[in-house]
Amino acid sequence: MPDRKDDMKIPDKTGHFGDFGGSFVPETLVCALRELEDEYLRAGRDPGFRKQMDYYLKEYTGRPTPLYLASRLSSYLGIGRVYLKREDLLHTGAHKINNTVGQALLALRMKKPRVIAETGAGQHGVATATVAARFGLKCAVYMGREDVERQKPNVFRMKLLGAEVVPVTQGSMTLKDAMTEAMRDWVTNVRNTYYVVGTVAGPHPYPLLVRDFQSVIGREAKSQILKKEGRLPDFLLACVGGGSNAIGLFHPFYADRKVVFIGVEAAGEGLSGNKHAASLSKGKTGVLHGCKSAFMQDADGQVLNAHSIAAGLDYPGVGPEHAFYKRSGRAEYVSVTDAEALEGFKLLSRTEGIIPALESSHAVAYLLKMRRRLRKNSITVLCLSGRGDKDLGIVTPRLDL
Ligand SMILES: *Cc1c(COP(=O)(O)O)cnc(C)c1O
Repeated sequence: MPDRKDDMKIPDKTGHFGDFGGSFVPETLVCALRELEDEYLRAGRDPGFRKQMDYYLKEYTGRPTPLYLASRLSSYLGIGRVYLKREDLLHTGAHKINNTVGQALLALRMKKPRVIAETGAGQHGVATATVAARFGLKCAVYMGREDVERQKPNVFRMKLLGAEVVPVTQGSMTLKDAMTEAMRDWVTNVRNTYYVVGTVAGPHPYPLLVRDFQSVIGREAKSQILKKEGRLPDFLLACVGGGSNAIGLFHPFYADRKVVFIGVEAAGEGLSGNKHAASLSKGKTGVLHGCKSAFMQDADGQVLNAHSIAAGLDYPGVGPEHAFYKRSGRAEYVSVTDAEALEGFKLLSRTEGIIPALESSHAVAYLLKMRRRLRKNSITVLCLSGRGDKDLGIVTPRLDL
């Protein structure tokens, strides 16, 4: 277990979270990543940048988001109190915009007129296209051809926002191939192009800067819960795809050792087969897309395709800080199946009048499984990472209403 002093040291100067993280990239990108890190550190010391961030987070995305006492949901559980951190109320309907606003401002500082991103379900693509439109940046979004077919509404949104959507026909034509192609674009066009990474993964300094941009979730939640309850929560609960909404909530509580972190991965159709996305529960250590972390792999170390009913959890890896939290015991990682997530989806809709994203429904569903651990006065803060309107097409045929 790391001691308090370690807070300042994760990641270390080379981007390592213990054994994980780092930077495994071609020579051409070493320089670009160093340049990005330098600019990011400069921005951090610049009160003007802080002010700009605060302005756009407040006026454009709608922060601060409420910390809402879900009293009917809590009554349903029959024990303890659950608060929802309402990231679903942000512009574009999820937490992803916290990060893309930050990175768009970095791109502007670095005088890069073009941004690129990769996307699976299209949510990070939409969040990137949104800020690209707002800040007048050219935007290309790489997306596996399979996903282009499956996610037509988001493809249309991105195009409407002025982005070019590039279908990727390599490999399995899904997210991991789109990431590879986006990297290739970056290598070629690094002089005028900024690569917007969508979660706390990729080579250093991305896991660090995405975490910092998303930590606004946990900073707000901390001051809000202290105001409402006069003490820190017992449990923090969040779904984990790449891990950005979870790290954003957890990180500001890192030194508060009594606060238990629970990350909920997608168990898909069950952990016994390969149709899940539980990289921490079932994966192995490996290197992909520039960093060392936990990935779903076959016996030969080939990265597998993930599966989850929640498009945003459908990624076969996880950010290195989570791999580190797991190994050090700072956080625990559990999993929830597609079927259980659907129950969570229905439960929050019915008890609170809030339709959650299928991703966030995984965290809601886990409340039912952790009921035995709750006490009368337990306080749980759950990150409601997004809203569920986008998922109605997937959910409707599966629920008997
Ligand atoms: C993308 C997404 C996620 C998963 O990404 P993380 O980086 O793990 O946060 C979770 N919830 C919603 C609503 C998303 O759009």
